[in-house]
Order: sequence, then C-alpha cells, then structure tokens
Amino acid sequence: MDLKKYIADVPDFPEKGIVFRDISPLMADGEAYRFATNEIVTYAKDKGVEMIVGPEARGFIVGCPVAYEMGIGFAPARKKGKLPRETIEVTYGLEYGKDTLQIHQDAIKPGQKVLVCDDLLATGGTIAATIELIEKLGGIVVGTAFLVELKDLNGRDKIKGYDILALMEY
Ligand code: 5GP
Repeated sequence: MDLKKYIADVPDFPEKGIVFRDISPLMADGEAYRFATNEIVTYAKDKGVEMIVGPEARGFIVGCPVAYEMGIGFAPARKKGKLPRETIEVTYGLEYGKDTLQIHQDAIKPGQKVLVCDDLLATGGTIAATIELIEKLGGIVVGTAFLVELKDLNGRDKIKGYDILALMEY
C-alpha cells in the first residue's frame, strides 16, 4: 500500500520554512491505519517484543494498536508533570530550549524487550530520550518503529546501534 497518499504535507507549520508531515489522514483511513499497524506488528513479533513504549502524544496513536494486536502492554512516556505516580525523567535539547520526558518508575521490568513507537523521526531527540528512560529502568530496546523518517535531519545518528523501522521516508 502506498502510505504516502495518506500523509498531508503542510507548508510553514508550525513555523515558516517547515513542511509538517501530518499523519491524521492515515489515522482517519481504517485500512491504511490497520496496514501501517500490521507492518509494525510483524516487525515487533520478529524482534520478540514484550512491551511497547510511545512518547506523548502521537507515539500513543502508533504504539497502542500494536500493543493491542500483540496482546502485550503499552507504557506512555509523557511530558513532565502528567504522570501521577513515581517517575524517572530525562531532559533533552530541542531546536530552541529543552524538554523533559517522564515514565513511571515501574513501567518496565528489568530485562524486558521493548519496542519504541512514534509517528515520526526528525532530529532524533525524542526517541533518544525515550530510549534513555527505558534503559534507566533496565529495559532492552530491541527496536524503534516510525511511520515517517525525515532523512535530512539525520535522526538515525542519535540512535546509532538501534534497529529502525520507518514505513515512509522523506
Ligand atoms: P525529533 O525529536 O526527532 O526532532 O522530533 C520528532 C518528534 O516531533 C515526534 O514525536 C513527532 O511527533 C514530532 N514531529 C516533528 N516534526 C513532525 C512532523 O513534521 N510531523 C509530525 N507528525 N510530527 C512531527
């Protein structure tokens, strides 16, 4: 299936000069959403994945249906202050400023094989921070899965040594 048909290119969002790749048409189409999910499920089964983690917010959209289909758990990595129980956190650099991601301290069991899911790989900051959270808890990141990879931003370089599945490249 040609998934790129379901990505809307939005010029000058959120700032002038940036083309935002909007995944909502893909989510809105049941067949395309299921196809993309199944591609990730196949990859995850091959890697023996036991748990899915996704960063807020579109990582939930990609990761949750994969977890559901596999009958395994999902843990959210959230922006600071959203999770109600004891957390650990990682602060990472953005183009302008910093952001902090947190995960519940008991979200991952030591030794558990984890797949990280997000909608899009850009500079790699978000995925690198999510991986760091999982590893702090003793999880083993056996793969990362994205709907879209923006090649020019070299996000791969930030997660060298980790396996990457990207369903579309720009
Ligand atoms: P990174 O941390 O790799 O620079 O940026 C990736 C994160 O920002 C992802 O969580 C993703 O949701 C969001 N993001 C950045 N640019 C885009 C874009 O063009 N489209 C979408 N859908 N998300 C983006």
